Amino acid sequence: MNVYADNAATTAVSKTALAAMLPCFQETYGNPSSLHSPGQRAEELLSEARAVFAKNLNANPREITFTSGGSEADTQALRSAAALGARKGKRHIISTKFEHHAVLHTLDALAKEGFSITLLDIPPDGVVTPEQVRAALRPDTCLVSVMFANNEIGTIQPIPEIGAVCREAGVLFHTDAVQAAGHLPIDVEAMQIDLLSLSAHKFHGPKGAGVLYARRNVPLVNVVYGGGQEHGKRPGTENIPAICGAAAAFQEACANMEQNAAHLRPLRDRLIAGLTAIPHSALNGDALRRLPGNVNLCFEGIEGESLLLLLDSKGIAASSGSACTSGSLDPSHVLLALGRPHEVAHGSLRLSLSAYNTAEEVDYILDVVPGILSYLREMSPVWDELEKGQRPHLI
Ligand SMILES: *Cc1c(COP(=O)(O)O)cnc(C)c1O
Repeated sequence: MNVYADNAATTAVSKTALAAMLPCFQETYGNPSSLHSPGQRAEELLSEARAVFAKNLNANPREITFTSGGSEADTQALRSAAALGARKGKRHIISTKFEHHAVLHTLDALAKEGFSITLLDIPPDGVVTPEQVRAALRPDTCLVSVMFANNEIGTIQPIPEIGAVCREAGVLFHTDAVQAAGHLPIDVEAMQIDLLSLSAHKFHGPKGAGVLYARRNVPLVNVVYGGGQEHGKRPGTENIPAICGAAAAFQEACANMEQNAAHLRPLRDRLIAGLTAIPHSALNGDALRRLPGNVNLCFEGIEGESLLLLLDSKGIAASSGSACTSGSLDPSHVLLALGRPHEVAHGSLRLSLSAYNTAEEVDYILDVVPGILSYLREMSPVWDELEKGQRPHLI
């Protein structure tokens, strides 16, 4: 059986999204900036797509800017808020230790440009509190950036409450909603969000299309320079096929949100119950305040990448926060921020489900994982030491 359980990394394009994209390649392929009819037909598609995002986020179409994806939207959001702050002499930014690298690396760049950055600690349940944000505020704070839901451990942050703290303090609030969009309700007005990023390929849209929502009073700075597209704030001929696919996928995900969540939560909870029954395993992040499709655990005495390779040999595509998969010597910064020791963080497994996953696939995962874990532990010198009491169990 083949099971794709890595939907937090990327998703399959939905049939609806694909159907919306295909005519854009050979029929409505005009340039939206052109005055002729083919161009104007493309321009109509562009404004329809913008309206879909505006409606489902409770925003105004003028507040929607299309980008090349989540990373670009995050970068532009942070740079715009920072530039606005700097103009008022405010150069302090608050964010968290478990943000996506698109946020963390932009903050590194801003730090080199003279901004002062506070990264909030992550509580053991993986949910940052509004009190933490309030306590970190300074007179020179210009921006708070807290992700809507974490991409590794799936925990959902108290976005409306953090929005309220920021609004009261007169500080801009950005949220990286890439994992939340299409999976959780988002209302930028009710949640007092000033800047928000999302990415189509995380909700069954195509890769290479993202959205930056920016409240009308937040001027965007350019990350890319060129022509007048997207009010001059995101130049470059619009990627109409990807934008149309993104809008169709978002519309579909928002319309089916409750139904999809009702399908996913029991699958998630069955995986969590089955896998935490394995000795010396632990769930990462709160069991309930997490995305409907996210499962993330640590297993003592194993290496995440060996687990992934063996799972792959059984047809299961998953992910891990171990060193090799994080592309550095250190395991996932998210698991370390959560307080997992290095050796425990190396043995992590993320299963991220989408609406396309079935109960049979979950049964198959639950069938396969315990055997692979026993096999890996039998071969592991670390597990041997743990079993002999030569080193203490950490979980
Ligand atoms: C995937 C992801 C991104 C990056 O989005 P891209 O469209 O791949 O650039 C940013 N933030 C989070 C939380 C993500 O999961």
